[in-house]
Amino acid sequence: AAKDDGRNTHRVFTPAMRESATDRIMLISKLRSALANDEFELNFQPQIDLTSGRVVGAEALLRWNQPELGRISPGQFIPLAEESGLIVDIGAWVIEQAIQTAADWRSRGLGELVMAVNISALQFRHGQLAQQITSALTRNRLPGANLEVELTESTLIDDTDRLEEAIAQLKRHDVKLAIDDFGTGYSELTYLRRFAVDRLKIDQSFIRDIAESDSEALVTAVLQMAHSLGLTVIAEGVEISAQADQLIELGCDEAQGYHYGRPMTAAAFEAVLIEQLTTQA
Ligand code: C2E
Ligand code: MG
Ligand code: MG
Ligand code: MG
Repeated sequence: AAKDDGRNTHRVFTPAMRESATDRIMLISKLRSALANDEFELNFQPQIDLTSGRVVGAEALLRWNQPELGRISPGQFIPLAEESGLIVDIGAWVIEQAIQTAADWRSRGLGELVMAVNISALQFRHGQLAQQITSALTRNRLPGANLEVELTESTLIDDTDRLEEAIAQLKRHDVKLAIDDFGTGYSELTYLRRFAVDRLKIDQSFIRDIAESDSEALVTAVLQMAHSLGLTVIAEGVEISAQADQLIELGCDEAQGYHYGRPMTAAAFEAVLIEQLTTQA
């Protein structure tokens, strides 16, 4: 019923699109100098193995601290970065920082984590994305298996030869491929085999409502399908222990969300890893 009452119509607009054109132009011009002015920072959110309860991964999430405007959320500036093409350079910075950080933790014996990085469709269309990633891996001596790229379904649906070739190249280096916000996009699932997807990230909207039978049925179906295809599943947006308990019961592989830890600075994440080392499984 919520779908047909018409009230949701405006929600197709992103927060950025609701802003006036002048606001957007202003923000884009500030974004343009943000890299050079060192205004970006990566935060890292833990990903937990639900069998062992241990941190096995980190998702790198971009933060923009604009000197005059303060913190601007990625939901607001990522669409502008995409629209303006700036995401290509910003994304390259994210990749380099994330790989450097993962390599640093690994070389100091803090664990064999998988570092997950969000990639926009535009990054595949411009520049040498796969080349850039594999050379950053080599330079930082990080095995490809310790890196995961997160793409949305729409990126894979918007298929080009270039995308397919880039993904094949990453796969040859053992880089993992995850589908972000799974369940919110398309019902066409053939891309799962075509691109050798490794795992699905179930969108947080399903986890939020998992106590309701419809959402639980969906999560169960996704788990069943994924596991029979040999994919693993991570639940996004786990906020309370009841959701975590239910996911464990349903056989979900991994989870991420405020219940386990918010996105945090590299230093704070490091402290979590060090503490984990002192409590061996
Ligand atoms: P995403 O990749 O789906 O990331 C998950 C988002 O959910 C993050 O928002 C995270 O902070 C938030 N989150 C995590 N746990 C919980 C929870 O328990 N409850 C709730 N309500 N939210 C939770 P964030 O950091 O604001 O990022 C929003 C989106 O911006 C990301 O969604 C991703 O699509 C995009 N993004 C962030 N960093 C990058 C980047 O470096 N490159 C690209 N291309 N996109 C990025
Ligand atoms: Mg993501
Ligand atoms: Mg997501
Ligand atoms: Mg998202």
